[in-house]
Amino acid sequence: MFFITAVAPVGDILQPLAMDETPRIAVDRMLMRLARWLRLLGADVITDASLTGAELLKLARADNRILVTRDKRLRTAADVCFVVSNSIRGQLRESVRRFNLDPHVIALTRCSRCNTSLATVARELVSSRVPPYVFASHDRFAECVTCGRVYWPETHPERMHAMLDSIAF
Ligand SMILES: [Zn+2]
Repeated sequence: MFFITAVAPVGDILQPLAMDETPRIAVDRMLMRLARWLRLLGADVITDASLTGAELLKLARADNRILVTRDKRLRTAADVCFVVSNSIRGQLRESVRRFNLDPHVIALTRCSRCNTSLATVARELVSSRVPPYVFASHDRFAECVTCGRVYWPETHPERMHAMLDSIAF
């Protein structure tokens, strides 16, 4: 079973997702780094470091999410994506395939830290919150209202694109 939900575009600085479908995912505490990457690719990803894999699976089911885990005891469940790889690169590749994400598109629809949907924010409100050269060279910004992180179209440096290129297929 694969549950999907529509995503609303958040302003025109954001690139559209490849499909109008956002995967709903829960990622277990062994895979926190993977969770941040999946959010950058537009997935709706919850995590909870205080929950075991089994506990998070219960939560994921109640919330129509697929659990991504490395817990072998959960690998046979139909609504679980068991990742085999030890490396973040391999884990990301496996997840991108499973959830049909486009590794060429950094979606900028969700905060990579806390999963909150980003909202556009007036330029003058971010002047003290971004580096001066960024402020000077960009007109459009988005922010996470939960943690206050500010995003702009080139938030993600070269090495992030290099990582995504390396898992593209
Ligand atoms: Zn945030």
